[in-house]
Amino acid sequence: MYIRMFKLRLLNAIAPAYFFTATMVTFVLHFYFFIPAIFQAPGTRLNGATLVHSAVILYLMLNALGNYLMTIRDSAESANENVIPVCSPDCPDKVDAHYLLNGRHFCKLCKKVILKRDHHCFFTGNCIGNRNMRYFIMFCIYTSCTCLYSLVLGVAYLTVEYSISFENPLTFLTLLPLSTGYFFLGTIPGLQFFLVLMLYVWLGIGLTCAGFCLQQVLLVARGQTWCQLRRGQLVENQSSWRVNLSDVFGSRWVLGLFLPVQTVEAPLGGTTHKHD
Ligand SMILES: [Zn+2]
Repeated sequence: MYIRMFKLRLLNAIAPAYFFTATMVTFVLHFYFFIPAIFQAPGTRLNGATLVHSAVILYLMLNALGNYLMTIRDSAESANENVIPVCSPDCPDKVDAHYLLNGRHFCKLCKKVILKRDHHCFFTGNCIGNRNMRYFIMFCIYTSCTCLYSLVLGVAYLTVEYSISFENPLTFLTLLPLSTGYFFLGTIPGLQFFLVLMLYVWLGIGLTCAGFCLQQVLLVARGQTWCQLRRGQLVENQSSWRVNLSDVFGSRWVLGLFLPVQTVEAPLGGTTHKHD
């Protein structure tokens, strides 16, 4: 039990560091390698294409980071609590959270009580619950867009700088093993090998976030949480999907699609919202 908690706490510290490192690397690759090489003609300073692509990647990254920070800011119902409230009779106490009464969970990693807890996200180091689900979903959407956009520009950069052709669909299957072999034989530079690795990282994170986001939206529309789904707990939900979505995304949800801002009038957690 203690070893398991230690592993979870370690993961809780490593995953955010990985996220910030990947974000910094992506930023540097775009502004020091991709955009100058692909869109800027030699000898010229700035042109329309450079400005557009710089604006697009900055917008995507700022939205991902903004929603990431909002997910952490509005993470839980309670402040730090040392005393665990009363557990529900079916609390297994085997995973990372105690199941409490009234649809609340006490997360052992966050040391907080969470309303409508969905899961503990190691990349944000926080629980995803009723308060921050909307920001978490937008964080997933913008992270996915950033990664897939980076993948496209990364492919363009490898084509322009290293004359790698991606016309054959099988190129993506053979690129990593061939690049690894050539790198250790010393026939390709380290930067090229690193960029090939990053293509696979962006593809993996981009598709995972898109799939995860789709699953979360479906769960929210059904008024369910991942926590309930994992426990095989089906909820009798009388509300329509519109009510469920507006309960999570707030009245100003359109604004939240484009900017990482608060989209609810008042903090959630009161009696006006449903419990699981
Ligand atoms: Zn947690």
